[in-house]
Amino acid sequence: CGIVGYAGGRPALGIVLDGLRRLEYRGYDSAGVAVVCDAELLTEKKAGKLANLEKVLAERAAVNPEGCAASPIGIGDGTTGIGHTRWATHGGPTDRNAHPHVAPDGRVAVIHNGIIENFAKLRTELEDSGVQFSSDTDTECAAHLLSAALAELRAAGEPDGPGLLVAAMRAVCQRLEGAFTLLAVDAAVPGAVVGARRNSPLVVGRGDGENYLASDVAAFIEHTRDAIELGQDQIVLITPDAVEITDFAGRPATGKDFHVDWDA
Ligand code: GLU
Repeated sequence: CGIVGYAGGRPALGIVLDGLRRLEYRGYDSAGVAVVCDAELLTEKKAGKLANLEKVLAERAAVNPEGCAASPIGIGDGTTGIGHTRWATHGGPTDRNAHPHVAPDGRVAVIHNGIIENFAKLRTELEDSGVQFSSDTDTECAAHLLSAALAELRAAGEPDGPGLLVAAMRAVCQRLEGAFTLLAVDAAVPGAVVGARRNSPLVVGRGDGENYLASDVAAFIEHTRDAIELGQDQIVLITPDAVEITDFAGRPATGKDFHVDWDA
């Protein structure tokens, strides 16, 4: 339902939670975040209001006030992050069905707006190959597919880095039918968030040494009003200093630049 991503130099968690709060008007039944810190993936998700998620995050912060540098329990210091508010379509509004969905490798996290129409076929195929699912959502198959695509590219000798994440997302999008805005992070690729869209909105917010992704500009206009609306079937990579857009075939592409001159 609501999607936010951040890659920059400031702690991502507060920025992502603020962005989700600004998207609350859309309605939702669960919320979750994933932050990459010290090449580790830290996630938290909870059914109910954002306040429920914030309560659990506060408890984690109390255990480790220094943030993630000192212990994997902390989540506060990571400067790459994604967040989601869910409006359940496949699977009830429970903690385990909330996004992000994390692949069993514990390194890749995915959030999703929309409906993956061919998820049942993909799920059967993945289960037949030995993958175990931990939710009832259509989204989770995208997390497994992304993790498998990354593993395959790495095994083929592709160099690690943001380009690998984009190539893997491209491979996933080629398998999906339906409507999706997807964001993903990989703990092995810190400082990068990859996004993709088909039949569902995704906008980029361009900052100074930081960039944003969101389902709606309202999520980031307190930070920047310099935006790009992605076109149909496009993939975007944000890092603190760059925004790169390609199509589902891997060719360079452009979105529609615009300036937000209204108040949300
Ligand atoms: N279809 C996904 C789910 O049920 C995403 C729903 C949404 O757009 O929030 O988890």
